[in-house]
Amino acid sequence: MNSESGLVFGAHMSDGVKDKKKPYTVLALKYRPQTFADLVGQEHICRALTNALASGRVAHAFLFTGARGVGKTSSARIMAKALNCEQGPSTEPCNVCSACHEITDGISVDVLEIDGASNTGVDDVRELRDTIRYLPARGRYKIVIIDEVHMLSTNAFNALLKTLEEPPSHVKFIFATTEPHKLPITILSRCQRYDFKRIPLKKIVAQLEHIVREEKISVTETALTMVARKGDGSMRDSLSTLDQVLAFCGENVLDEDVTSLLGVVDRGLLLETSGSIFAHDAAGVLDAVRRVDAFGYNMRQFCQELIEQFRLLAILKAVKQPGELIDLADAELALLKEQVSPLTLDDLQRQISLLIKAEGEMSQSSFPRLVLEMALIRAATMAPVIPIGDLLERLKNLERVIRSGEAVAGPATRLEREAVTPSRPTPSAPVAAPRSFPTASSPSSPPSPSPSSAARSSSENSGDSWSGYVLYVKEKKARLGAFLEHGHPIGISPTKVEVGFPADSFYYSSLSEPDALATLTSLAREHFGGAPELKLVKLTDSGANLPPTVHEKKKLHSRESLKQAEEELKKHPLVAAAVEIFGGKLELERSKDGL
Ligand SMILES: [Zn+2]
Repeated sequence: MNSESGLVFGAHMSDGVKDKKKPYTVLALKYRPQTFADLVGQEHICRALTNALASGRVAHAFLFTGARGVGKTSSARIMAKALNCEQGPSTEPCNVCSACHEITDGISVDVLEIDGASNTGVDDVRELRDTIRYLPARGRYKIVIIDEVHMLSTNAFNALLKTLEEPPSHVKFIFATTEPHKLPITILSRCQRYDFKRIPLKKIVAQLEHIVREEKISVTETALTMVARKGDGSMRDSLSTLDQVLAFCGENVLDEDVTSLLGVVDRGLLLETSGSIFAHDAAGVLDAVRRVDAFGYNMRQFCQELIEQFRLLAILKAVKQPGELIDLADAELALLKEQVSPLTLDDLQRQISLLIKAEGEMSQSSFPRLVLEMALIRAATMAPVIPIGDLLERLKNLERVIRSGEAVAGPATRLEREAVTPSRPTPSAPVAAPRSFPTASSPSSPPSPSPSSAARSSSENSGDSWSGYVLYVKEKKARLGAFLEHGHPIGISPTKVEVGFPADSFYYSSLSEPDALATLTSLAREHFGGAPELKLVKLTDSGANLPPTVHEKKKLHSRESLKQAEEELKKHPLVAAAVEIFGGKLELERSKDGL
């Protein structure tokens, strides 16, 4: 942070009690951990190091590895203080004595901090060797901290190796590196290695919250989460970002300002985009891209963040207790969980593949926006994958339906109804209605083994219209529908629907109940349109000369139905898909009763 911002922030950044004109210290320095307990997110290392200190088994060379800004150098200094503290050696430095103060301020004569990047030569190491030959001036140990140790030259490593092989007992080495694989194996094998982890987002956010509270600035958790995410597991980067945010926003930190300053994609927009994909809303995803463009985000970065979001969703879908797999604030996690619940893993994986492909193409295309738009449209309009288990279950159901003989009556009449009857009665309904009614108000041609084709077709018409109505009733009121299946459609016209039952029929008496009759009438009006009256008629004979009941038709046509259904089944896309998947051949099994 430069000195200008120091002037701007001098007033509210200082402790208040102390000098108000004190120059601004960057947060990363001001809140640098001074004890192992302060160190965030490296508990495993703190425990090992404090145990070593407590037991007095302190190795002579340590190697701290890990990404930048996760606490390697801070730990090295804390270690140096713990070893040389006037109150120690102890598991934690006192941070009060002059030895501790000198190390904190970087002026201790016994602690040599060397930057491997700028002291790479063999001469530097020789000089170092000469220096450490002498006993420490004040402390117990001469402590050599080499940062970015992988930058040393081969000769320098060789010179260092000699010292490491026979180290003077008053010398401790602490090496820090982001790239341990670049170290010679001879060096690695002589060090006790500690791998520092990326700091989990939640811990960084908690630390940032602590710091803004100390600084008496109010920043929302959302904004701090954005800052922490930008830091990508590094506390130092997160704190630098927070410095930047405070410099830009002052004491009044608004979420939108943080979003635009950091150029991060708003999490809300990501959530909305994935939500639009899952809702198969192509307009929604295109609008999201438009907003990405309007905010001035990089299209490819947006795509990358979307991929990361899908990764999180897939993990949430696949794993019950994601634990450390997911690095998210609780509020965001809850939103993602809600979004993921109706999805299938297969669909998510296909969508991820699409996005990854698009991301690759965007890097080479002159039209990254177009590539992204097309990928998102495809993701949103993708037909859902049907799990093979469901497919088999549906096949089984289909088979069951065919065996029970309902297949043909069902779909055919439903289709007919959709084609003929408007879903709501409209003024145009009467125009369409006549098509639904048979022309003959009381069809007289009884079913015979071989009726003339004309008579047959008329009877079929009337029958289909009736079957459609019965099915409709069955869907709405299963019990009434089941009774109605035993009624003969005597006459169906726009004004009257007459149904005949044998005189002593149980169905007649049940359906004659005022409630039942009213329901049937209103369903008839819904189904046929217009305002037909529903009339139940007591038949004097057995009804053999009347149009067949749905129940009779079912029996009569079951054989025919089965044949037709078989044909339909063979053509059904699900069956075709199953045959293709299993590479088999379709064979239908008839049940014993011949149905
Ligand atoms: Zn001390």
